[in-house]
Order: sequence, then structure tokens, then C-alpha cells
Amino acid sequence: LIGELLPRHLEIIEKINAQFEAELKAKGVAADTIKDMAIYTGDAVRMAYLATYGGSHVNGVAELHSQLLKDVTLKNFSDVYPDKFTNVTNGVTPRRFVRLANPRLSDLITEGLGTDKWVADLELLKGLEPLAKDDEFVKKFAAVKKANKHAFVGFAKDHYGIDIDENTLFNTMVKRLHEYKRQSLKILAVISTYADIKSGKVKAEDITPRTVFFGAKAAPGYYLAKMTIELINNVSRVISSDPAVKGKLAVHMLPNYNVEMAQNLIPATELDEQISQAGKEASGTGNMKFALNGALTVGTLDGANVEIRERVGAENFFLFGMTVDEVEKKYAEGYNPASYYEADPRLKQAIDLVADGTFSNGDRNAYSPLVADWLTKDWFMTLADFSAYMGIQSEIEALYADELEWNRKAVLNVANSGYFSSDRSMEDYLERIWHTAPLA
Ligand SMILES: *Cc1c(COP(=O)(O)O)cnc(C)c1O
Repeated sequence: LIGELLPRHLEIIEKINAQFEAELKAKGVAADTIKDMAIYTGDAVRMAYLATYGGSHVNGVAELHSQLLKDVTLKNFSDVYPDKFTNVTNGVTPRRFVRLANPRLSDLITEGLGTDKWVADLELLKGLEPLAKDDEFVKKFAAVKKANKHAFVGFAKDHYGIDIDENTLFNTMVKRLHEYKRQSLKILAVISTYADIKSGKVKAEDITPRTVFFGAKAAPGYYLAKMTIELINNVSRVISSDPAVKGKLAVHMLPNYNVEMAQNLIPATELDEQISQAGKEASGTGNMKFALNGALTVGTLDGANVEIRERVGAENFFLFGMTVDEVEKKYAEGYNPASYYEADPRLKQAIDLVADGTFSNGDRNAYSPLVADWLTKDWFMTLADFSAYMGIQSEIEALYADELEWNRKAVLNVANSGYFSSDRSMEDYLERIWHTAPLA
């Protein structure tokens, strides 16, 4: 395809590949390793290899991912060019994602710190840490979150025509739709909770009323991703028309996830979902936006989640699921998703409800490609992490019942997330890669 559309590009790529092979040979690299490192194989152009050879530096966008590049993905390259490899953990801009998106929190931060300099020096947020022990400050933070929730209810009514109960836990999963991000895990958990409430398995007094927000776009040709969006919409429809769960559980698939929606929804969110399969999310930046706006995270040890958890404290982060090493071990052993389906009755029930037409007006075929994928392939091991994910929900709900403690942890998330400023990322690029300094 490249040769047909871009013949001159392919010629140049072949020349680069020849020069690269000669360089490796001169360095004494073994012939079979040189073959493994080919930029152009005759069938394919390996874009990452081309970029690694051509680039002066290569960085992952979070520590875990940078390490995986060196140890696994680009190991041969790291052996030959060890000094090329570095890390620059991503960041987000505090001007847009705190100051502009969350004026109420911004005013409270400025009040707490006695200065607004944090807007351009986000590590100053650390100065809020002692205020997490100050109940009056924590209550002010809680009031900000409440006001943001109220504002989002208005935004959602205006933009989407939906009614949201603001006296529920606002639980959000917004990001591109991809199998590795595991929106499937979240919707299966929602279905399972729905089934438990409906059957009376959980007592009314034990229910933490929740509103689950999804936002996600899928690439047009990504069949399973489009089908997952359809499923979320249909689960939303069934749940919202079922009086048995009214006031206890609601799900919304908000259309057209974009930065405007992010700026409105993130400040109103209390619980953020970062539940990708360990090793697959290079960094994530949504995770940073949420922590900076005082949401607590439920997440796996993936991408920048690892660094967020290190900074905000393990006790202020809901960790669950397999690690990179456990995932690798399971791939090596041979992963059988059906065994997890058979072993966990809640998982079985949730998948059965998708398969039996509950969310497709009785049509049992509507989701058969999705169900078949879960039971026979499940490349990103959604089923293997389901039980751990359900297991951590009681911890989440117990903490949520203690409003002051929940918000104390949220304040600690804000106070310890200053590192995730894009200003710090840019400083790292200046120092580690561009070898230059800021103008001012
Ligand atoms: C931050 C952001 C993303 C990236 O989110 P992740 O959870 O890191 O994948 C995607 N889309 C929009 C509109 C965003 O604001």
C-alpha cells in the first residue's frame, strides 16, 4: 500500500533501512538480531522501529511504559542504543483543566494557599496537604464538589436533555472506546449491580445510589467498540425505565465526548475509572485531570496510575486487578476466559443477561459477537479482573458513606498531583531531550 501510494517514501525508507543494517553490522550485532530489527521487512514498514532509529531520543509517556519499551517492546534497540531511552511522564495543563474548568475549586485552592501562583507552579498544591486535616477546609472542598455536581446536572439537562439525581455518587468513565481500556468491565459490573438490586440480593439500605457516566468515541471501523457503545446505550435505556432501581442506579452514555464535556464533567466527578489492562495504557492523562479535580480513582497498576498512586498515597487510591507480570504469566500459561465465567456467578449472570436479549428487546443475536469474544478470546482479560473489580466496590462504598473521610482523601489527591502539570513535562523535555532552556 505504501509502495503504491507513496513510492518515493518507500524508496527512502529502504535506503534508511540499508544504512541502519550497515550500522548494526559495524557495531557487531548478530545477524539474526539485525533481521529482527528490520525497519522494512519486504512486507511491512515498522513505524516504531523507523522512529526509534531516526529519533535522537525515545521516551515512554510514563515510567512503567518507558520501562516496558526498554525491556520488551524495543529491547533490541535499547541494547544497541541505551542512551536514547528516557522517560517523560505526561502532564495536563492546569490553566485549562483546573483554573478554567473548575473555578470553584480554583478559588478554594487560592484561599487555602494564600496565593494564586499555583496556576503556573502546580507543585505548590502540596501546601494543601496540612489542610486535609482541617475539617472546615475539607467541608469547603465537599461544598465545591456538590456545587460542581449541581452545575453538571444543569449542563446535562441543557446539552443532553437528561435528568440526573445529584444526590448520587458520580462515577465516570470517559476516554476513547477501546478493548484495552475495558469499558466492558465497567458495563458488566453495572449490569451485575443492576441484577443484584433487582433481585433483592442487596438490601435497600446497603445500596449506595450511583450515577455512572460513560463518554467515548470509537473509530468508525472498530466493530466491537461500536457494539460496546450500543450496549451501554441499551443498558442505560433498560435501567432508566425500570422502577425497581429508580434512585439507586442510573447509567448515561453521554454523546460526543470532547474537551468541553471533559471540562464540565471532570470537576463534578467523585469516582474516576482507570481500569485498563495492566501494561496497555501508555500513560493516560484523563487520570491526571480527575485527580487534580479531587476525584478518587479506582484503577489498575497501569500507565501513570502507578505514579499517581505513589504520590497521592496507596490509602487514597482504589487499586485492583492483575499486574503487568501477572498478565504476562497468564498469557504464557494460556488464558481461558470461560473458566472465569464459570467460576463467578455474578459474572456469569451479567454476561447471560447480555446474551439472553435483556438489553436488546429479546434479540439473542444482537450482542453475540461481543459475548463470543468475552467467552473465547477476551484478549485484555476483562473476565479475569472482574471479581477483583467487584470486590473493591464495597471498600469504595464504605468510604463514600463517610463524607468527611472521602473528601479528605480527595483533598489529598489534589494536594499531591502537582507533578502532573504539563509545565513539568515540558521542563523534562527541555532537560532530557531538547537540551535547551525556557526563554523566560
Ligand atoms: C483527557 C482526554 C482524553 C484522554 O483520556 P484518557 O483517559 O487518558 O484516555 C481523551 N479525550 C478527551 C476529550 C480528553 O479531554
